[in-house]
Amino acid sequence: MKREFRCVDIGQIVKHYRVKQEPIHSSVLTRQRMMLRVSMERGKEMMEKKDIAKVDQAKRPLKLAILVSLFFVGGAVMAAAQGGLAPDLILFNGKILTVDKDFNIQEAIAIWKDRILDVGDSSAILALAGKNTRTIDLKGKTVLPGLSDGHFHMLQSAVGQYRGVDISQVSSIEQLLGKLEEKIAQTPPGEVVFTTAGITPEQLREKREPTRQDLDRISPRHPVVITGGHNYTLNSLALQKANITVDTPSPEGGLIEKDPRTGELTGLILDNALRLVRGLIPPATPQQKLEALRFMQKRANAVGFTSLREPGVSAEDMRIYQQLWKSDELTLRVSMNLSPNFQNASVDELVRQLSQWGVSTGFGDAMLRLDGIGEFGIDGGFEAGLMTEPYENLGDAPAPPDYFGLQRVPVDKFEQAVVAFNRLGWRGCIHAVGDKGVDIVLAAYEKANQDHSIIGKRWILEHGHYTRLDQFERMKKLGVIISTQNHPYEAGGRMRYFWGEKRAAKVMRVKDWQDAGLVVGGGSDRPGALISPFLQLYFWITRKMNDGQVIGPDQKLSRADALRLMTINNAYITFEENLKGSIEPGKLADLVVIEEDFLTVPEEKIKEIQPVATFLGGKVVYDRQELR
Ligand SMILES: [Zn+2]
Ligand SMILES: [Zn+2]
Repeated sequence: MKREFRCVDIGQIVKHYRVKQEPIHSSVLTRQRMMLRVSMERGKEMMEKKDIAKVDQAKRPLKLAILVSLFFVGGAVMAAAQGGLAPDLILFNGKILTVDKDFNIQEAIAIWKDRILDVGDSSAILALAGKNTRTIDLKGKTVLPGLSDGHFHMLQSAVGQYRGVDISQVSSIEQLLGKLEEKIAQTPPGEVVFTTAGITPEQLREKREPTRQDLDRISPRHPVVITGGHNYTLNSLALQKANITVDTPSPEGGLIEKDPRTGELTGLILDNALRLVRGLIPPATPQQKLEALRFMQKRANAVGFTSLREPGVSAEDMRIYQQLWKSDELTLRVSMNLSPNFQNASVDELVRQLSQWGVSTGFGDAMLRLDGIGEFGIDGGFEAGLMTEPYENLGDAPAPPDYFGLQRVPVDKFEQAVVAFNRLGWRGCIHAVGDKGVDIVLAAYEKANQDHSIIGKRWILEHGHYTRLDQFERMKKLGVIISTQNHPYEAGGRMRYFWGEKRAAKVMRVKDWQDAGLVVGGGSDRPGALISPFLQLYFWITRKMNDGQVIGPDQKLSRADALRLMTINNAYITFEENLKGSIEPGKLADLVVIEEDFLTVPEEKIKEIQPVATFLGGKVVYDRQELR
């Protein structure tokens, strides 16, 4: 089933209806809207989970069936409306930031089942109440559309949090070692100890990465791995277990770092070198993954998330999500990128694997869907994004003059694969950090487009840390969307150090992209920690890093535009802009209630905002017990 079919139809009906019916008295208007909603609901029920496979095979008859149902249901609903059909819930006396096209602000919302029935001033919306309608006085609180993280490795993070040592809050190397020591004391010798995620040197008093020698001090009998997104730090025992010695060559697209003064291993390894240590950390069991996801999605609801994109999961891990979906336990809407085993498989093998899938981008429902192929990287992270100009520094010394970052996949193979994915109906959602990496991704997308148009298929560039102006037009021509992240909040200092001031001033150039007419969605991409959407919004609004310094001040967004990044724009990325991402009649009732007025609260307070309640499809998924 193509999701756009249902969504666009609903949107068009509402739009058409509004234009036609503008002069009608509001109560009639409301009744008419209810009819529409119920008709929509009927259409939706027909497409419920269990029917999806059938629907896909029989799209045309289904379209017809829905049209027929709209006619039939109309009469039944008119009767129901006369009999007192009323919203289930009304939130009134609030400040509703609808994030509709004109960023209208309203006072009240009527919710019926999982949908927004109407939005307007308190008296008009309260007039819709029936005897069973629950009403909640918001007492001036603000309501935002449910927030969405456009790039969050939830499963990986959840498993990490569930099993690893959390070092995210440490502020010195001594503290970090202390945390690891606690775990080491409870772990049998020889068993590996690892972290939920890495740290940034900026958060440490010493302003440097921990080294092999630091770790050796506390762990002579346990292999220790500090895990980051693109970099791991290992102690001597872990290096030994992974058979990495000073003589081990850095693999293509990876780096085993050596101290330039002594020639010894520092313990830091990057990108493709991570493959050498994969076997060290035992894989989580499906049951552990399931429990970890249950835990993580609750935390995500509590900070205001109702949707997210998983940037890359294996087919096997998709089943974990499917299990939650099947048992109706999902409280976040998830759009999953399939991450094929790109490094080890040939293009033919990849095509063979994917050809056996009878589904592709867009398959699924409003809770769980397939997003694209991602995010396997053409290049590395902050230390290894592929640039056209050389790096300024690397490690703790000036970079070699010929160091431009790392290219992880041969261009030929990459392009062939992207063309093949397109033929099989999958869109590309490829990771690129440096401008040269972006060049390679765009060239591959252009090749795919020549073979079989990708226009309108909303292909994605994941990240785009450093992009050049001349790349904007190429992206626009292809209809490429940028899914970017607030990485500079904690890593801007390193970007300045590695790439120099000039490039760092233009990292994540959201304002420039927006002014050029490119669609941009916002996310976090933290492999180990859940980042509050309000901290992300704070960064886009202030461009302040965690040390208070501003990076790229000309790229600041207005509060309204920052909010769009994490609501309607992310909904557009998953082809669901007519279903969610704003508070408008007909859309899913995904909402976040906050105490503060998002538009006027002092800037520094934005990052501290904690939701009062989060609603998913009209149901409370997080509640601070303050809405009565
Ligand atoms: Zn990435
Ligand atoms: Zn990522």
